[in-house]
Amino acid sequence: MALTDETTVHLRFARRERQYLFWSEVGRISAGGPTQALACGTVLPLVETFIQQGKTVRIEANYPLGPSVKMLRAAGAVCRSNPLPMERWNEPTPLARWQMPGVPTADPARPVYVSWEDYLARTANTQRMKRCYAASKKANRKRLLSATPEHRLTGPLVWKVIETARGRCMHCNSLAVENRPSDTKTGQPLSWAQVGRRIGSLDHVEWRMGGGDNGLDNLAWACLWCNTWPSERRWGATDHGGYFPGD
Ligand SMILES: [Zn+2]
Repeated sequence: MALTDETTVHLRFARRERQYLFWSEVGRISAGGPTQALACGTVLPLVETFIQQGKTVRIEANYPLGPSVKMLRAAGAVCRSNPLPMERWNEPTPLARWQMPGVPTADPARPVYVSWEDYLARTANTQRMKRCYAASKKANRKRLLSATPEHRLTGPLVWKVIETARGRCMHCNSLAVENRPSDTKTGQPLSWAQVGRRIGSLDHVEWRMGGGDNGLDNLAWACLWCNTWPSERRWGATDHGGYFPGD
């Protein structure tokens, strides 16, 4: 299904005549529905196909994507709102540079933890479990197009996933135990592309929309970079802060 040869697929999203539509000028892709969720359900398989082909999918939304934005992002698409009226959409808009693969990013800071043992030694159990509970809560959430998960995930189970992996990303093998950086004063999230391979996240081996569940055998630890960008899954990759202590 060669809809476009471009390495980046640009999709647009807007509400038009009571329909919610995704479309692209290149490849003439058009997918939509009477609600955001239905429109998203139509476009998701396309987005997945492009990502599997190693392409970057950028979605510019002129209308709020609603909860669908999470699913599109989970599939690896870059979504951003473009508040410009449609007739001005051909004007160049600044890219969200820090979250795009293939765009140079600043040098990463030094790793917060030099090894898995260092992470264990310098974090309290309560601190680690807090993160695990947050991840389990997120994974248990009912999603728009997925069934309610059969297995309820718990904090200790998430910890088991991390511990089994010794904090390593299953895709690139980077030590991924850091949190997303945030401003120490305001708590506002900061750009994370520089250290994307060091930030840990819970990954579903089979994507939940594809029938994947919260069972232990379907869970894995992954860095946020690989989790966000399936095309960036390269074993031993040293970009975006990839860090491989010899343990
Ligand atoms: Zn990774």
